[in-house]
Amino acid sequence: MAKSESKKIQERRQKVAAILPLLKKMYPQAKCSLDYRNPLQLLIATILSAQCTDERVNKVTPDLFKKYKTAKDLAAADPSELEKEIQSTGFFRNKAKSLRGMAAGILARHQGQVPQTMEDLTNLPGVGRKTANVVLGNAYNIAVGVVVDTHVARVSARLGLTKHTDPVKIEQDLMQIVPREEWTLFSHLLIHHGRQICIARRPKCSICPLLPHCPAGQAFIKTGEAR
Ligand code: SF4
Repeated sequence: MAKSESKKIQERRQKVAAILPLLKKMYPQAKCSLDYRNPLQLLIATILSAQCTDERVNKVTPDLFKKYKTAKDLAAADPSELEKEIQSTGFFRNKAKSLRGMAAGILARHQGQVPQTMEDLTNLPGVGRKTANVVLGNAYNIAVGVVVDTHVARVSARLGLTKHTDPVKIEQDLMQIVPREEWTLFSHLLIHHGRQICIARRPKCSICPLLPHCPAGQAFIKTGEAR
């Protein structure tokens, strides 16, 4: 690795070390905002959360979890009934197909239990790396990667923690600079920050405690793009 590259990583690590305590202080309750009581429920909720707010998903899942208690229940779901039940989360045909396929895969290959490895999870229909990271980190406390959603991508870029826009590459950058034991929490913190202060349009840089560490924020203040 070129010397400048390793220096850049070192600087980013130092920045993470400086901003992590600030974020923890700002969002002491930061956690997954999807409601769930077991790994299967979290997997279902995470699949439904694609292109949908967590609030909307949390409105749909109580009835769903009451009706489909196990992977066997979900695998046997009537397709059109299931579509109707999850319609308000958007992309409901694809999501219903993913839910039924995922449940059938769990039944066929994992004795009805949600698997605990990235490989087994991502081999299930409709389960990508992000969904698997959410389940492993939050339901099983296994840190295999960093969840990169739209908030994590935006805030990381603004803070200068990555130059990439592809979620997989952003995740690789973050895994290099965030301590492994903080991977799951770090995502939650950036998601909270992205929702409350570092919002997509007109971020609230003037009240953001991260401003001294944030190149984009300092530029936004100069150009008047920030609140
Ligand atoms: S200073 Fe502005 S751009 Fe930087 S993290 Fe804070 S709100 Fe976001």
